[in-house]
Amino acid sequence: MQSTDLTQIIDDTFLEISHSRKNYDSNIQFREMGVVKNISAGTATVTGLPGTGFEELLEFPNNLFGMAFNLDKDEIGVVLLGRNDQLQAGDTVLRTHRVADIPVGENLIGRVIDSLGNPMDDKGPISFQQRNPIERPAPPIMSREAVNAPLQTGIKVIDAIIPIGRGQRELILGDRQTGKTSIAIDTILNQHDKNVLCVYCAIGQRTAAVAKVISELTEKGAMEYTIVVVTEGNSSPGLQYLTPYAATSIAEYFMEQGRDVLIVYDDLTKHARAYRELSLLLRRPPGREAFPGDIFYIHSRLLERATHLNEENGGGSLTALPIIETQAQDISAYIPTNLISITDGQIYLSPKLFELGLLPAVDIGKSVSRVGGKAQLRAYRKISGNLKLAYAQSEELETFARFGTRLDQDTKKMIERGKRIRMIFKQPEMKPVSVPEQLLVLHALINGVFDAVPLDKITKAEALIQKKYYQLPDEVLQRIYSSESLNEVDEAILVMLAKEAITNILKLDSDE
Ligand code: ATP
Ligand code: MG
Repeated sequence: MQSTDLTQIIDDTFLEISHSRKNYDSNIQFREMGVVKNISAGTATVTGLPGTGFEELLEFPNNLFGMAFNLDKDEIGVVLLGRNDQLQAGDTVLRTHRVADIPVGENLIGRVIDSLGNPMDDKGPISFQQRNPIERPAPPIMSREAVNAPLQTGIKVIDAIIPIGRGQRELILGDRQTGKTSIAIDTILNQHDKNVLCVYCAIGQRTAAVAKVISELTEKGAMEYTIVVVTEGNSSPGLQYLTPYAATSIAEYFMEQGRDVLIVYDDLTKHARAYRELSLLLRRPPGREAFPGDIFYIHSRLLERATHLNEENGGGSLTALPIIETQAQDISAYIPTNLISITDGQIYLSPKLFELGLLPAVDIGKSVSRVGGKAQLRAYRKISGNLKLAYAQSEELETFARFGTRLDQDTKKMIERGKRIRMIFKQPEMKPVSVPEQLLVLHALINGVFDAVPLDKITKAEALIQKKYYQLPDEVLQRIYSSESLNEVDEAILVMLAKEAITNILKLDSDE
């Protein structure tokens, strides 16, 4: 070989080496690594990660994540977001430098997801453009506006007496199996033509109960505008704790786009229990009913995110319907009292009314809506006060009448009116009633149209009156939905139509 060739080869080799060196990417990543010290059901203690921030996500082996909850000097208490059967003491833990977040966006509408954004239906993967943190500060006061538009539930007793406004937080509470979920579901069903997006957040419920809700929503076509976020009862308490925050972030995304959104938390009792479990496992000091001291704060910071934004911020709203289960009708237990004071009112469901078959079992005396009255359609104003008073009076008189007192004509009339109000407020589930139909019936009620109808024919009479909705003149319909009150002529038309509808029932009765 000639010496020139050799030089050439050496030169080429050097060139190649220096070239590949320039392009060399070491692929080394610097990550802070700690070690699992011990594990209990749903939580773990980790050492060796001193810089970790509060609520930072930590990565465990097998794609398991955890959230830093207790930051002590030498170790961190971590809430695990998933099953920990494969985790062992001594496993490595990595910092991620980010907080828990959830995918948000239009593609979620109609889907069932878990609290980490994974699909739980069989409609395939979901594509996203954006992820939002699950915990965000509530909108500041300056971005908010008073609640001024109604959120119609389609449930007569609620729309008339305990009206809910868009951006309001109304608690639904009652013992187990008193119809709490049904009220929330009926409200979602009633939004089908109201341009309100709904998020149903199921926390720690039995799989069968959630499946029932989803099938009802699907059957009635409500999934077209609804997102369901589910954490089942057998999931880790960490995931159950996260669920309402994740669902709120999803709802908030739409509110910030100027839309009206309704969110249902079913239910926060289970959420509070999951948080208590985590706190006890992480050895936080227990307080009343063994709940940690900050249980009030975790619910208030969640519900503060529901609001009505002002025009500069898009004018969207987030209405929250949290659900709470009471034990033996005790509304003064720790969690119910907390939530009653956080929310803008409560709908209390009474097991006694449920037993009597007076469904929905709303206890009018114990229920209240503190801001919804101002947002209620003006067409309801006159009815609402009138009905509440008449009902309360008749209840009182009825108690009195039980002692065998002889009653005068007026008192008897009042008691009879009360019975009719109760009958009219009965409503089967999944049968929302539209505003004009409600007004026809309720105007008839306060004007004594039903007084001559025997109690067993009230339901039939009501159905006949509702059908008259098609005969309402356009201008009356317009006024019903506008910010104007109904004038005397409108009211006379409503009453006249109602009377017309039941003439046959009255005639039959007098013939008998
Ligand atoms: P849980 O405590 O188990 O969550 P819940 O308080 O949410 O129960 P629901 O599941 O809503 O109660 O309702 C309990 C039962 O009452 C159900 O079988 C439901 O079908 C029935 N129910 C609820 N509302 C009505 C209604 N307006 N008319 C007839 N039945 C109703
Ligand atoms: Mg329920």
